[in-house]
Order: sequence, then C-alpha cells, then structure tokens
Amino acid sequence: MNAPSTPSSAHIIDGKAFALKLRENIAAKVPEFITASGRKPGLAVILVGDDPASKVYVGSKGKATIAAGMNSFEYLLPADVPQEDLIALVKTLNDDDAVDGILVQLPLPDGLNEQEVIAALDPDKDVDGLHVMNAGRLVSGQKAMVPCTPLGCQILLKDYLGDLSGLNAVVLGRSILVGKPMAQLLLNENCTVTMAHSRTKDLPDVVRAADIVVAAVGRPEMVKADWLKPGAIVIDVGINRLAPVGDAKGRLVGDVDTHNAMAHVKAITPVPGGVGPMTIACLLRNTLLAAHRRNSMDDPEI
Ligand code: NDP
Repeated sequence: MNAPSTPSSAHIIDGKAFALKLRENIAAKVPEFITASGRKPGLAVILVGDDPASKVYVGSKGKATIAAGMNSFEYLLPADVPQEDLIALVKTLNDDDAVDGILVQLPLPDGLNEQEVIAALDPDKDVDGLHVMNAGRLVSGQKAMVPCTPLGCQILLKDYLGDLSGLNAVVLGRSILVGKPMAQLLLNENCTVTMAHSRTKDLPDVVRAADIVVAAVGRPEMVKADWLKPGAIVIDVGINRLAPVGDAKGRLVGDVDTHNAMAHVKAITPVPGGVGPMTIACLLRNTLLAAHRRNSMDDPEI
C-alpha cells in the first residue's frame, strides 16, 4: 500500500465557501436598506493605469457588488492622470449621495501620491479603512471602517475558534493594509499579540510561541512547518505567484509552506481559496455598513 504523499491532518478553513455565505447574507440585507432609504447602496472603484491584475480585481469587485444588489460605479483613469484631477474625482464622489463607499485601487502608478489621495477620502466612505481617521478609530475602539483583508481573517478566526481570549497571536508583517490592523483586531479580541517583521530576531522561535499565526509578508512559503507550534491555527494572507514551469503558468502559493505544515497544525487557510475571497466579501460588508451609517441607521447584523 502506498503511503500518502501529503501528511494532512489539519482542518482546512474554507474561506471561499464562507465568503459565499457572507455575500449571500449581505445580499439578503440590501432590500431592507433600499426600503428604508429609497436607493441602492453604491460602491465607487477608481483604477488608475492599466495594470492587468488590477483590472481583473476591479472587474471582480464590480461583479460582486452588482450581484449583491448594490450599484457599482467604475472610474478608469490613465496612468498619467494629474494628481489634482484624481483628488478632484475623489472629492466629487465624497459629495455624491449615491456613493456610500469609495475604493482607490492600490498601488497607484509612479508619480501619484497615495497618502494624499487617501487623505482626500471622506473617512465615512473609506471602505478600505486606510484613512488615518479609520486607523485612529480602530485603535481607540470607536466605530471604524476596518481594512477588508484583516477583517476577513478576524471573521474566519472567530468562526473557527469562537472566543480568542488569552491566545498568543503572532502577526507576520506590519503593513498599514494588513499587519497593523490585524494586530489591533486580535488585541481587541483579547489575544496577546506579537508583531513580527523583517528586523525581528529569531523569527522561527517567535512564531513557535503562537497559538494563532497570521502570515502577511509576501514571501512564498517562507513560514516552515517546524516554525509552527503543534496545534496552531494558521491564517495565510500571502498571495505569491511562483515562476512559470515550461508553458504552465506559475502556481499561486501563500507565505506558509502549507504542504508540510498540514501534519502539524490544527487548522490552516489554503491559497488560493482562503483569505482572498473574504476580502471581496468584506468590501461588500463595509459598503453596506457605510450606507447604513450615512443614513443614521443601526449597523445591520451580518
Ligand atoms: P507589504 O509588502 O506592504 O508588507 C510586507 C511585510 O512583511 C512588511 O511589514 C515586511 O517587514 C514584512 N516582511 C517582509 N519580508 C520579511 C521577512 N523575510 N521576515 C519577516 N517579515 C518580513 O505587503 P502587504 O501587507 O500589502 O501584503 C502581504 C502579503 O499579503 C502579500 O503577499 C500580498 O499579496 C498579500 N495580500 C493578500 C490579500 C488578500 O486578499 N488575500 C490582500 C492584501 C495583501 P518590514 O516592515 O520590516 O519591511
């Protein structure tokens, strides 16, 4: 009898299936908003330049928005758009009552100042949660727009574990988009949180202390199986495309060596099909939330 080639005892946290359910729940709440406000929630997405990967992301966000019963407004601007024109568009959308959420697809092409563009957003429409007001609200425990990817990770963790209180969590990566808000969300869940980054000493030992590991470094399969505590819960945020082999497109992998980690950990998110689909679902959730808050309505239960 052949021994299985992959040791596979870990539970796979199926973000794709969960995101589908979440999107159905959101879509089910949209008619209530329409009845109360007389209009659909609206999400505006701005794409500058013609990066093919960003075009695909923006296209799938638009489709998901419409499928949830909301309005989708797409703005495609040339890569050489002047900064002031981009900011003028953001301000127009800030003032547009039909628009509840505004997302500027990042990164912006060279020559444009991302921070200035984000600062121009109405914080209440900042569905990506990148404005300093939202970062401050999150840290100080006020109602914030929370960045979609870490929010998706938090939802998956809570669904799997229930109460996270007292668990040791290590967040690998300290970006504004993922690592920092993730650490804050875990702290809000009463975890004991360590943030690790490229200057962290003895990284494998730091990770080995964690009950929960969130990897968001953008380094293919960097986190090895023997870095992980037996029974750890692993959320792999990384999306890395390996080099093509012959004619075949390179495989997508995360930041964790999932193949070998499977025998070791209690649960893990796959790449693809883990955190990625949750990000779009959380964007819809934030848009619906923004729509309710802008209309002085209670947050919907999603
Ligand atoms: P950034 O490049 O902004 O941040 C990467 C972080 O990882 C930095 O804090 C950096 O440390 C740290 N890092 C890099 N190399 C190492 C190393 N060798 N050891 C320890 N830490 C290291 O990336 P993002 O946060 O934007 O994204 C991270 C990953 O998540 C990427 O693969 C990205 O594609 C993916 N992603 C996935 C999303 C999804 O929907 N699933 C959404 C957003 C991102 P330092 O600060 O010291 O430089």
